[in-house]
Amino acid sequence: MRWERPSARPLVRRPKIRHAPCIIPAFVQGLEFDLEDVRARARAAFVGFAVGDALGAPVEFMTAGEIRARGLHREMTGGGWLHLAPGRVTDDTEMALCVAHALVASGGFSLRAVADRLAEWMKRGPIDVGNTCRRGLRAYIVEGRLEAPPGEWDAGNGAAMRILPVALRTLGDFELLSEWAIAQGHLTHNHPLSDAASVLFGKLVQVAALGLSQARMRADCRAVAEVHRAFAFEPYRGGASGYVADSVRTVLHHFFRTRGFEECLVAVVNEGGDADTNGALAGMLAGAYYGREEIPRRWTKRMDPRLLAELDDLALRLVEASPLCSARAEALKRRASGP
Ligand code: MN
Ligand code: MN
Repeated sequence: MRWERPSARPLVRRPKIRHAPCIIPAFVQGLEFDLEDVRARARAAFVGFAVGDALGAPVEFMTAGEIRARGLHREMTGGGWLHLAPGRVTDDTEMALCVAHALVASGGFSLRAVADRLAEWMKRGPIDVGNTCRRGLRAYIVEGRLEAPPGEWDAGNGAAMRILPVALRTLGDFELLSEWAIAQGHLTHNHPLSDAASVLFGKLVQVAALGLSQARMRADCRAVAEVHRAFAFEPYRGGASGYVADSVRTVLHHFFRTRGFEECLVAVVNEGGDADTNGALAGMLAGAYYGREEIPRRWTKRMDPRLLAELDDLALRLVEASPLCSARAEALKRRASGP
């Protein structure tokens, strides 16, 4: 597997992220999980992500009060500060697509391949690019820099919002997930909270894609919140900006409090603030957890069918290349050859 280490030496000591042991063995030994189910959940995660982006974008940067004054936002209306067509996705989905394509094309992890895709995307003049992302990608284009220096102000959610393809590609291996998550995150964001949020969101998608319970997901969140107090989401006091801790709290609070995909996404985007990014992150968790059938048709109907097909296809390819699938194939081979 190809793996390039960022060339710049880290200037601060990285916090050690503690992990539960890799989840593959128990599952694979008994071949207990249903691969069809995992695939379906992975696809729903990617589609759910884009749905959350498109649903939230029209109310991005509004306050919860401003949205409430106009009435609950629960349809693919389009509009907003970017004057979007209904169902149109933004930078969140586009950047995640870049990472997904890079991971599929390079067969392993090539930070340069990820950076190249993102740089090409930025040069095409996308509808929106976050400031920290722009700065990081510009430094790659101009100086070939693959790792942003540690930045006190780099605790935005722009790295965490690219985590989904990494999570699917490393499905079943938390160690690999954190290694790749942090490397890809540091292209633009080098901050301990951004790292921790990326790894946490990635882990939650994996746990949900494997069909594990919300109780298990909640336990993972509590453990991380003990280390990073800024992630404590109970009780929730509002605040849904692009600060990564706000994203973690908003998404987790509503994901655990609601009982369905639509309810969860409506609750998150109506907090306003970074509504498209928070909506996307909620959509990937709720998509993986509740599945594709729970994503309202009236929402996906407004979206580009080619985009939806592309997301479906990429999700499948990423899962197919994951440690989970390789380990399972190995286990099946061993069982077939018999004792
Ligand atoms: Mn956006
Ligand atoms: Mn946003």
